Amino acid sequence: MLELRPTCENCNTPLPPAATHARICTYECTFCANCVDTVLDNVCPNCGGGFVPRPVRPSKNWKGDNWLGKNPASTKVRHRPVDPAAHARFAATLKAIPPHQR
Ligand SMILES: [Zn+2]
Ligand SMILES: [Zn+2]
Repeated sequence: MLELRPTCENCNTPLPPAATHARICTYECTFCANCVDTVLDNVCPNCGGGFVPRPVRPSKNWKGDNWLGKNPASTKVRHRPVDPAAHARFAATLKAIPPHQR
């Protein structure tokens, strides 16, 4: 199950469970859309993979106890800002490789 991490790992902006600008990689590294677009170039600084929008977990118990009240968001902040210059080099290296060969 997704942890729903509370903030952007780079800029620490809050990303509450209902945020539609939260982005995650396959390992659930979590960033805001602004950092993914302007700093990360859609390359995860931790694993090199890409990002997708993080699904919103329902805030109400619509069905079967599958909701935030039963499975609350994580409160553990993981603020590990990237070095923009180093990341730009990393991203450029990966972007030179076709997506299906990364
Ligand atoms: Zn951010
Ligand atoms: Zn990652």
